[in-house]
Amino acid sequence: MKNLFKRALRLMTGKSQQHQFIGSNTSLPSSGNNRQSWFEMDRLHLPEVLIKPNGTTHRAVLRVTETSPNYRFELEQFDPPLPPQAPQLNEEQYVTFRCNICDGINTDIARNLVTDREANSCIHCGSSLRLRSVIQALTSEIYGESLTLPTAPVRKSIRGAGMSDWEGYAKPLAKLFAYQNTFYHQKPRLDILNVPESEFGQYDFLISSDVMEHVPSDVDKAFTNMANMLKPGGFLVLTVPYKPDGEHEEFYPDLHEYRFITTGGKTFLYNRTKNGTEQVYDNLVFHGGDGFTLFMRMFSESSLTRMLEASGFDGGIKIYHENDPAHGVIWPISWCLTIVARKADKAG
Ligand SMILES: [Zn+2]
Repeated sequence: MKNLFKRALRLMTGKSQQHQFIGSNTSLPSSGNNRQSWFEMDRLHLPEVLIKPNGTTHRAVLRVTETSPNYRFELEQFDPPLPPQAPQLNEEQYVTFRCNICDGINTDIARNLVTDREANSCIHCGSSLRLRSVIQALTSEIYGESLTLPTAPVRKSIRGAGMSDWEGYAKPLAKLFAYQNTFYHQKPRLDILNVPESEFGQYDFLISSDVMEHVPSDVDKAFTNMANMLKPGGFLVLTVPYKPDGEHEEFYPDLHEYRFITTGGKTFLYNRTKNGTEQVYDNLVFHGGDGFTLFMRMFSESSLTRMLEASGFDGGIKIYHENDPAHGVIWPISWCLTIVARKADKAG
């Protein structure tokens, strides 16, 4: 019955989940009356329809045009009519997509949720736009087309590693590839500023999603290490917050010997630079809680591209501007997107 109401509602207002029938939660009789709505011949009468954004109630009469396999209606009366200045309620406010991480179908999800970089917009696995865009880029690079992880062919010859990857895709990635997630604080450990040479030239792909804005200086060294870890022709899937233009901003350019001091409920960063100068920073911005997720820098698109090229990614930098709406990748902005940085496919 819920579906019946949904369909009727769509007819009246355009598709929207924000509207509801007052008193229509009770089951609709197949014929006869109830207090809130009733069928009479082939008409469905709805005495009180609430349009939430407007706060108005209306009387509606729908004519049944089909009963099998589904109910179909034609709107016959809608009193009073919606005011002309009412917000345009259309299909564009809602998005239906198949999550490329869990393969779950998400029906009629609010567009502003799906286009929020960090919102948990997959109702099944909780993936966000950023996480799905990482998988869009990864599968496009490996398979030549954007696939969902549960349906992608297994390729155990492909070796990959993640840097504190989200567990939601680390697990399916480990099923598909010779993939291992790594961490700074726990095993299997990887300190991207101190990578052992035995790790060089080992990987077909690396994933670094919203990590590099937190790595202490020198971030160039981290990028160089990642390029070194890749095989020729290998690639890095990278996300970091970056702005569309302007200069790179390094918030703590001279970090050397430093520690966090919390006093009076406020955390300060105390630093002694290489030449012995003492610095104290306040107004620190942390992501996710502890001291190692301090927001260290703001990249710009040009600075990031330059840094990657200078760090050994000589096989091309690709910014994934293309939306992939079928997989819930819809960007509301043209920056801060997922980047693939490749190492040239040649020795030396
Ligand atoms: Zn999902």
